[in-house]
Amino acid sequence: MSIKENYKAIKDQLSSGVQLVAVSKTHPVASIQEVYDLGQRVFGENKVQELMEKSPLLPDDIQWHLIGHLQTNKVKYIAPFIDTIQSVDSGKLLAEINKEADKNNRRIKVLLQVKIAAEDTKFGLEITEAKDLFEQYINGNFPHIEITGLMGMATFTDDEQQVRKEFLTLKGLFDELNQLKTLKTLSMGMSDDFPVAIECGANSVRVGSAIFGRRDYSQ
Ligand SMILES: *Cc1c(COP(=O)(O)O)cnc(C)c1O
Repeated sequence: MSIKENYKAIKDQLSSGVQLVAVSKTHPVASIQEVYDLGQRVFGENKVQELMEKSPLLPDDIQWHLIGHLQTNKVKYIAPFIDTIQSVDSGKLLAEINKEADKNNRRIKVLLQVKIAAEDTKFGLEITEAKDLFEQYINGNFPHIEITGLMGMATFTDDEQQVRKEFLTLKGLFDELNQLKTLKTLSMGMSDDFPVAIECGANSVRVGSAIFGRRDYSQ
């Protein structure tokens, strides 16, 4: 199927309350423009350098989300324009984003990335760390950022029960933190598992290959 058909098919599966982040990593500017022209405005990239190369060539009203691991020394490059950093996986990174947001007179939206997968993934906060950071945030630390929600990735497996269990764990944490201070976004689900994620409470999904086709290399 073409990008256009893929995009329409995905949109048809999402109710209006679910945000679609079109994950364009590894795909060329022309493909992003094609999806933009169909009305999509929120795009996700996982590498700062790639984002810096592509974003100036595309319309200004794209809301860029960073969804990959972010090194603290690269925050300064994206702080002037990034809409949301979905992949906050340490207090050190949160502090750096806060500092750079201040410099740019912005309040940057972030999601805390929580480790929910059984497999040994490198990045993501433990649940206790996420709670701790959120409490620091509520207590007035990090005034130049807004924690708008949580992001998580399930184990890469065909075992739907496993995936469901992991998504529900994150939904549980989301509900718990939401009692302390209102959160907007629960970002979970990718091309292969977004319908399950939505059943488990996701209101934002990150879909790449189901729109743009397979990537040349897996990430
Ligand atoms: C690449 C990526 C996605 C999209 O993956 P697809 O399987 O292509 O839909 C979603 N989230 C993150 C964090 C990613 O790195």
